[in-house]
Amino acid sequence: MGWIKNVLLEIGREEIAKDTVVTKTKQVCLLIQDGEIKEIAAVIPEAANDVIDAKGYLALPSLVDNHIHLDKGHYGGKWHAVVPMHSVAERIVEERGFLREALAETSQKAQALIDLITSKGATFLRVQTNVDPVIGLENITVIKKVLEQNKHKINYELVVFPQHGTVITEEIGLLTKALEDDAVTVLGGVDPATLDGDIEKSLKITFDLATKYKKEIDIHLHDRGTLGLFEIKRIIDYTIANNMQGKVQISHAFSLADASEDVLRPILKRLKEANIAINTTVPLGTKALSIPLLESHGVKVNVINDNINDHWSPFGSGDLIERASRAAECFSMTDEVSLSRALGLVTNGVTPLDQEGNLAWPKVGDKGDILFVKAESSAHLIGRVCPERVVLFDGEIVSGEFK
Ligand SMILES: [Zn+2]
Repeated sequence: MGWIKNVLLEIGREEIAKDTVVTKTKQVCLLIQDGEIKEIAAVIPEAANDVIDAKGYLALPSLVDNHIHLDKGHYGGKWHAVVPMHSVAERIVEERGFLREALAETSQKAQALIDLITSKGATFLRVQTNVDPVIGLENITVIKKVLEQNKHKINYELVVFPQHGTVITEEIGLLTKALEDDAVTVLGGVDPATLDGDIEKSLKITFDLATKYKKEIDIHLHDRGTLGLFEIKRIIDYTIANNMQGKVQISHAFSLADASEDVLRPILKRLKEANIAINTTVPLGTKALSIPLLESHGVKVNVINDNINDHWSPFGSGDLIERASRAAECFSMTDEVSLSRALGLVTNGVTPLDQEGNLAWPKVGDKGDILFVKAESSAHLIGRVCPERVVLFDGEIVSGEFK
C-alpha cells in the first residue's frame, strides 16, 4: 500500500446549541504499510508516489460479524422462500432432509456470502458450521477450505455447531473429532432444554469438551421466558466454575426480552461478571432484548447477520451497518451520540470516538483494517446506511473503489 490522502476522520464532538451535538471531523493522510497504520499526517511527503485519493471518504474500523452460517443457505444459489413451521425442532427435521444434497453447492454459496458480507465492510467472520449426525464433518471440511481461500480478505474463527443437538452429536463422537482440528476455535450449542432435553447433560458435555480442547463456547439460545432465563443462569454458573470468563457467548438469548428489569437486573450483573457477550440479530416481529438495557449493565452486545436467505429466513442484505441501523431504530437511538455509538455493535466495540467524545480510533500501530464510507460521520452512516464503501483488509483494498 502506501499513502492514502483526503481521508476524513472523526476527531471529537461539539455541542453547538443546547442538546444539539455534532461530530467534528478533519481531513488527513494515512500511511499504510505492513498491514498497519504507520502514520497519520496532515499532508503527505513530497516524495510519496502511488498515492491513493480517498476523495473525502470517512475512515472507520472495519466490521465484525460474530455469527454467520455459511454452510446451509440459499444465497448464491436458487431462490427459495421459507416453508412455514412452528418450532426449532421442526426446522431441524427439515434440515436433515436437505443437508446432504446441499453439500455439492456449499463452496459456491459460501463464497457468494463471504463476497456479499465483506463488500459491506466486514473483515472478520465467526463462522458457524454444522456438525451433526447427517453431515458429519463434511461441512467443516468444505467451509474450512473456502475460508482458507479467503485469507487475503478476512480473518475468521470456525465454530463447530451441533445444530441437531449436542448430546446426539457427541454420542457418536463427532464433536470430539471436530475439536481435535486446530482450525476450530469455538464449540457451539443450541437450546440445551428443548433440543437436548437435558440442560445439565448438554452443558456438561459442552464445557468439558471446551475445557479439554481449549476452545471458546457459543450457545444459540432460542428458548424463551423463564426456561431460557434459567438456562442463561446455568450457563453463567458453568462459565464461572470452569474459569471461562470472557470465553463464552450466548447468541439470540430471546428470553432476555421476556422479563421485567427487576427480574433481569441480577442476571445482567452476573452476565457481566462472567464476561459473557450476547449476540443478536435485532429480530423484528418478536420482542427483541433491549440493547441499551444490557449495555447499561456493562454486558457486551454484538449485532450479527446470522443467516441470509436460508431455510430459517428469506431476509438479510449481509450489511451489518443496516443491522446496526435497525438496532438504533428499534431502541430510539436517534441523537448524534447514540447513533455513532451504535457503530460499536458491529465493530467489536471499536468506535472512532468514545462515549465522552475523545478520539479512540485510529491510532498509529492500529491494524490496516478500515471501512471507508462516503458519509459525514458514523452517526450519518448508521442513520442513512450510506451505500458507498471501500474496504481495506491487512493494508490492502479488498472491495470497492473511491468514487
Ligand atoms: Zn445462527
